[in-house]
Amino acid sequence: EAITVQELANRMAERGGEVVKTLMKMGVMATITQTIDADTAELVVEEFGHRAHRVSDEDIEVGLKREDEDETDLQARPPVITVMGHVDHGKTSLLDALRKSDVAGGEAGGITQHIGAYQVEVEGGQRLTFIDTPGHAAFTDMRARGATVTDVVILVVAADDGIMAQTVEAISHAKAAGVPIVVAINKIDKPGADPNRVMTELLQHNLVPESMGGDIICVPVSALSREGLPDLIESILLQAELLDLKANPGRPAEGTVIEARLEQGRGSVATVLVQRGTLRVGDIFVAGSESGRVRALINDRGERVEEAGPSVPVEVLGLTGTPDAGEDFVVVEDDARAREVASFRAERKKRAQQAATAKGRGSLEQMLSRIKEGEAANLPLVIKSDVHGSLEAILSSLDKLSTEEVRAHVLHSGVGGINESDITLARATGALVIAFNVRANAQARELAKRDGVEIRYYSIIYNVIDDVKAALSGMLEPEQ
Ligand code: GDP
Repeated sequence: EAITVQELANRMAERGGEVVKTLMKMGVMATITQTIDADTAELVVEEFGHRAHRVSDEDIEVGLKREDEDETDLQARPPVITVMGHVDHGKTSLLDALRKSDVAGGEAGGITQHIGAYQVEVEGGQRLTFIDTPGHAAFTDMRARGATVTDVVILVVAADDGIMAQTVEAISHAKAAGVPIVVAINKIDKPGADPNRVMTELLQHNLVPESMGGDIICVPVSALSREGLPDLIESILLQAELLDLKANPGRPAEGTVIEARLEQGRGSVATVLVQRGTLRVGDIFVAGSESGRVRALINDRGERVEEAGPSVPVEVLGLTGTPDAGEDFVVVEDDARAREVASFRAERKKRAQQAATAKGRGSLEQMLSRIKEGEAANLPLVIKSDVHGSLEAILSSLDKLSTEEVRAHVLHSGVGGINESDITLARATGALVIAFNVRANAQARELAKRDGVEIRYYSIIYNVIDDVKAALSGMLEPEQ
């Protein structure tokens, strides 16, 4: 006993009736509400051309993307590149410089629209697609939603500054995603530039440059003088060639939402990166839990186009609502199917949120109960306050609370509102977030809600201490 026919149909985003028919062909008589075993479910999933993944004997996960591509239908596609690196090391400048490397623009003026991604054609006719939002926050946010759009990461390191905190973060994010890194050692025009120092520093992060016998391509460049840019482009194309990137343009489009917004007079507009197939005006689609019909497609030059193939970013008009960046975009055969898939997605999103909330709350609860059982010796905290004075007072009082057995462990403290980074840290560590006379910004609140991180608001120091004391003795009641 594993899964009902309806649930299986939902997971595959197929019609229930079709699943019943397929089961019949396989000699299994079942109605939509009946349960079938995991082996049968797996066969059905494969029959529909989806990917089946057994989570356990009882449960089965369905990869919505079909893997029914015929080798002969596959054609080479341009690489998709994300630029990462420390603030002020030149990510934006480099993206601008690369944008100007486009030779296809001609008199039309080239890439003019900032739609979240752009494609350039370089000497020799090859094309490259760049994601226009630099930084690992956007990259990891998309990954968190299951989207893998980036084929190659350009890690920008300023030659006069070297590897900094966010460089290291970017390296971790790229490594976690298993995406190859090409290092652009930027600002070599500056007097203090020292590319060799950057390469030596890379070694400390297990990135061994080619010139030192490793496999990491490092290219000295200047986004300002454009020196080295052709080398950088060539290196990316080389890296892409090794990846043997291919897609079938001759099928209904699938892709990922790069960004989406509500625009006056245009309605909901989404930039979609097509990953397989070809997207056309008139296509009916589902984007996240929104659906629609393509009214118009607009490319990165601001021109209306009729279609967009693999690795092409394009603005899509005709959505009924605004999906999230990182959500997937799939063309389906008709309106009924679009609505069905969209409502299933909406339901799944709700369930995932509930699950995350339950999990997050659980982790704080678990933490508290482990403290109570004497298994945990630390209560992790993230504390933000409006002024230094209060923060100092809270920290020193907390210090005094600690006993031999348990102590409050402040992972991060500072003056200012609760931001996304605070929540990410709390999520990763099961910490309680304390907001003293400060608020959480909208993104942080949403993230906390999504991931079930608990933020507690205070305006009296005594109450903070009291609650932490309760938590340390395992007596704190979670807020509802
Ligand atoms: P981001 O924060 O990583 O996006 O960095 P920006 O692209 O905004 O660049 C930060 C500063 O460095 C700006 O003042 C740029 O003009 C400057 N900059 C970027 N690239 C270069 C370069 O190759 N040479 C020099 N001299 N300055 C650069």
